[in-house]
Amino acid sequence: MVNAMPNLGIIGGGQLGSLLASAARKLNIKTVVITDDKDAPAKNFCDDLIFAQYDDLTKIKEFTNKVDVITFEFENIPFETLKQILKIKPIFPNPSINKIVQNRILEKQFVNSLGIKTTLFKPITNKEHIVNLDDYLPGILKTNTMGYDGKGQYVIKDQSEIENLNINLNQEYILEKKIDLEKEISVIITRFQNGEISMYEPIENLHVDQILNKSIIPAKITKDIFDKAQYQAKLIAEKLNYVGTMCVEYFIDKKNNLLVNEIAPRVHNSGHLTLNAYNISQFENHIRAVCDLEKIKLNKTYNAEMKNILGFEIEKYRKIKFSNDEFFYDYLKVEAKEKRKMGHITRVNKI
Ligand code: ADP
Ligand code: MG
Repeated sequence: MVNAMPNLGIIGGGQLGSLLASAARKLNIKTVVITDDKDAPAKNFCDDLIFAQYDDLTKIKEFTNKVDVITFEFENIPFETLKQILKIKPIFPNPSINKIVQNRILEKQFVNSLGIKTTLFKPITNKEHIVNLDDYLPGILKTNTMGYDGKGQYVIKDQSEIENLNINLNQEYILEKKIDLEKEISVIITRFQNGEISMYEPIENLHVDQILNKSIIPAKITKDIFDKAQYQAKLIAEKLNYVGTMCVEYFIDKKNNLLVNEIAPRVHNSGHLTLNAYNISQFENHIRAVCDLEKIKLNKTYNAEMKNILGFEIEKYRKIKFSNDEFFYDYLKVEAKEKRKMGHITRVNKI
């Protein structure tokens, strides 16, 4: 346990970085954010902001020297940058985890190695792999790395469709069999440096155009799925020796099979409702774990429904007067763009 509060470095200055910085402030922890976006919303919430490209090692060093411990809001950070930081200061979660979870193929292989089910998948790394795909169709072709919010994904119905696709095979892809979805859920879990675990109840997630639209607790799932999802999230966090908050996204198919979709090594959009539905949010829990503070027992205070606000929709919300059971978060992004996450609103109700 550290005596004085550490200074925390956060890589990335979007809404997740902002919400982490706000949670740190509540705990009297000073934050330094490094971001490649001049207009990064986190400038409104952190104590110090460094504007730099993520591969500018001089700036990275300046950032590293200002803080005691470092975390990040997104997983696709150049590995060389993380390596340089790690020579001087600790990073939580450990960046070696990113190598697995930012690569959809390695991520699924890792999950399967724990005896946990995923969708049926096939790595597509060259032209020869685009034959005999019937077992995987209809499917979704995804870039193997760097995808988010459905970016870099193509729904493929039959073999000819994939042959005619103009995809760049200098890049790796993964073809996943399309699941007939009953619903999607996620489990947010925080693991502390001493191995203690703090876990939220499963959250039900509704997507529109592959982007998260709503998250709801309680999820309408069986006790069996509830327990299994939490058990698997715990197993994954432990096997990764994870420190901090992470999210496991699941599919539930029409036959009530639970499949891991993906692991996010960070706080997650579906966990935003923990800000208002629990005594300790996913953000505060992350800060507590990363900074080696005490774990506080989770206490759910409300049921909740969170809705993402995308693009120009934000303007309408900026004018509304909210009731006491509604919590509006404006990420204060300078520019609204179609499908960009601009804010969210959570409605709570009695348990
Ligand atoms: P991202 O990294 O962009 O979040 P995901 O792999 O989580 O990508 O896909 C986004 C969404 O697209 C999922 O939450 C789900 O709604 C849908 N989707 C993705 N893969 C499949 C699949 N194999 N079967 C059915 N739906 C899928
Ligand atoms: Mg996803």
